[in-house]
Amino acid sequence: MKVVVVGGGVVGLSSAYELASAGCEVILLEAEACGAGASHGNAAKVALAESTPVPGPGVLLQGIRWMLKPDSPLSIRPSLAPGYLKFLLRMALHCNARDFEAGLDVHLRLGEDANGLFDEYQHQGIGFEMHDRGVLLAFETAERFEEHSRSLEAFASVGHLADELHGDDLLETEPALSERIRHGLFFPADRQIEPDSLTHGLLGKLDELGVKVREGVAVRSFVRSSDTVTAVVTTDAEVIATDAVVIAAGVPTGALLAELGRRLPIYSGKGYSIDYSPAPIDLRTSLTLEDTRVAVTPLNGMLRLAGTMEFGSRDDEVNDIRVEAIRRAARQSFRDWGDEPTGERAPWAGSRPMTPDGLPVIGSLGTAKNAYVNSGHSMLGLTLAPASAKVLADIMLGRKSTLSSDLLARISPKRF
Ligand SMILES: Cc1cc2nc3c(=O)[nH]c(=O)nc-3n(C[C@H](O)[C@H](O)[C@H](O)COP(=O)(O)OP(=O)(O)OC[C@H]3O[C@@H](n4cnc5c(N)ncnc54)[C@H](O)[C@@H]3O)c2cc1C
Repeated sequence: MKVVVVGGGVVGLSSAYELASAGCEVILLEAEACGAGASHGNAAKVALAESTPVPGPGVLLQGIRWMLKPDSPLSIRPSLAPGYLKFLLRMALHCNARDFEAGLDVHLRLGEDANGLFDEYQHQGIGFEMHDRGVLLAFETAERFEEHSRSLEAFASVGHLADELHGDDLLETEPALSERIRHGLFFPADRQIEPDSLTHGLLGKLDELGVKVREGVAVRSFVRSSDTVTAVVTTDAEVIATDAVVIAAGVPTGALLAELGRRLPIYSGKGYSIDYSPAPIDLRTSLTLEDTRVAVTPLNGMLRLAGTMEFGSRDDEVNDIRVEAIRRAARQSFRDWGDEPTGERAPWAGSRPMTPDGLPVIGSLGTAKNAYVNSGHSMLGLTLAPASAKVLADIMLGRKSTLSSDLLARISPKRF
């Protein structure tokens, strides 16, 4: 079977790898450069600890309250993008405890073997930078810690156990923290992967498998014959024949699918990251500073700060006020950070593909029998890419899925 994969982020590349490994003839079309979208500057964590879906009780209300606070970690901007208001209203409906717990369960079931799948990638000769330093969720107040701890049972149900740490015990696990941070949940099993190294590793493997990767080629529309896609059409009017198509185009996925009769509600959740090389401080773990929602990840020869969730953005421009809020969080949370550490590189912004229920969209589109989607991974695209690619390949190739039919329905594009 010949498959065209649209999008060369971590999700598209993993999908191409899985399909090519199963014997498909794969062409991957990338509008710009592979791995240069959201997959480039993310927080580099493979973290089940971060599996809580974005729409949680009170989340959207908090975002609306923060609308006029230019340095808040969550912001909702007005936008006239088609369908954006409906997306926010739908998300508001999912901001309740029941949907939050159900969504967490979906993420955990989908991601529970993330480490094993990345180990398997390396076993198959895909080289990339990976660390197993664990993830420490760090809290200033007991209230925030307790609120978070309510989900620990769900994590334990997939064997993802956390150590609860307070005061001196916390400092023993991560001595770099300042006195401001008093409580922590340490998930020792979570990992870190430098995302560009993964892109390069996957591209090397795709080349070995004979996948044709074409960069600078954007898909604009599709050719259909009744209920079957027979070709994709590029912005240069090139027509590329195919037996099946996988749309893994990050944020633009939703609008592109309108061409196939089902526009999906996938919108941008913009975030920022700042790299320091050399790292200003030594860390034993990677962290999320929960009160400011800033991720801190040590990588080879550098340290990355990442944060902010900005709805309603239509570009990847860097907002200096939000970037400064991320720097401030680091200054206040680490004892030896200093006022202006050397080695700061230009801040980066990228757009997470967000859905109203906070869950990815994986499976058959439903409007054409050979059109498939793999997108909407929100804050977890790196963590869930290999598992999502496997789930999609199982669906496309008629193999038995490791997920139950109920779980498959909850991530299906047809739920919208
Ligand atoms: C600040 C930040 C921190 C994050 N931290 C983490 C983390 O620690 N762990 C984690 O798991 N996730 C994290 N994420 C989320 C993760 O980065 C994303 O979920 C993931 O990168 C999405 O991958 P993707 O392949 O779907 O999209 P992208 O990486 O955006 O790739 C989509 C690609 O499709 C291409 N494309 C678009 N339209 C077309 C078209 N018409 N034709 C051809 N190509 C097209 C684009 O050019 C792009 O390269 C973070 C995200 C951000 C922004």
